[in-house]
Order: sequence, then C-alpha cells, then structure tokens
Amino acid sequence: MAADPDCLFCKIVSGEIPATRIAEDERTITFMDINPATRGHVLVIPREHAKDLLSIDPGDLAAVAQAAQRIAATMPERLEADGVNLLNSCGRAAWQTVFHFHMHVIPRYDADPLRLPWTPEPGDREEIAAAARDLEG
Ligand code: AMP
Ligand code: ZN
Repeated sequence: MAADPDCLFCKIVSGEIPATRIAEDERTITFMDINPATRGHVLVIPREHAKDLLSIDPGDLAAVAQAAQRIAATMPERLEADGVNLLNSCGRAAWQTVFHFHMHVIPRYDADPLRLPWTPEPGDREEIAAAARDLEG
C-alpha cells in the first residue's frame, strides 16, 4: 500500500515529521519513542504503510521482527538493560493509538516501575478449553 497522507508514521518515513532515527534498512526504520516507557524505548516500523498486525505484509513483519531483535540485542551492553519487552498493540481495544504498524522495543531495568497490566491467576479449565476449541485449526 502507498503512504497514507494522514498517517503520522508515514510522515516520519518521508521525513516530513522529524524523528530521532537510530537504524534503518530496506524495509524498516527504528526511531526513539517520544513518550518513553523506560530509557531507550524505541519503535520499529515498516516503511510501507499498514495499519496493524492483521494487515501488514508478512515479509515486512519479518523484517520488523528482525530489526527489533537487532536493536534489542544492543540494549544490555549499550544501555545496561536487564531485559527487553517487545510490544505490539493491534486495535483500539488493545491500546493501539497510531494506526501504522509498529513494534515497541522497551529496555527493562531491574528497578524500573513498569508492571504487568493484569494479575496472573489460574483460569477456569472449561473456559480455557472452550477458547482453545474456538482458536484451533
Ligand atoms: P501505540 O499506543 O502502541 O499505538 O504506540 C504509539 C506510540 O507512538 C506511543 O508510544 C507514542 O509515544 C509514540 N509516538 C507518537 N507520536 C510520535 C512521534 N512523533 N515520534 C515518536 N514517537 C511517537
Ligand atoms: Zn502510515
């Protein structure tokens, strides 16, 4: 799909809007998130516009995943990160706010304030089995 003239991240791809770019390849751009969850929080996007996980070209998705892995691999040494989260939000219900696919790469530090947004508790076995039946094959 061509660039979307109303898309913020397409404007970052074209250079119309500035961003602090830290890595690029044929299919992807990696830049700093302006509202970082932790020090060093970056976003990896495909150059081609796709609104979300369900519509991105699989080759672009693979390229984003590989770029995310490359930058994540630098974080322990360059930032003294103790871990990394990859996060993608697909759809408003899943917290997506910018509708050009992006992968958050969030360095994590032992003492950082981020917490899981849910409380892990054992689920109802029947409900889990029913959901599995809905999802399988
Ligand atoms: P999401 O809520 O998963 O759609 O993530 C959108 C992310 O884009 C947020 O973390 C924002 O802080 C980030 N963001 C929005 N505008 C910009 C911008 N101009 N430059 C860099 N990051 C941005
Ligand atoms: Zn776009």
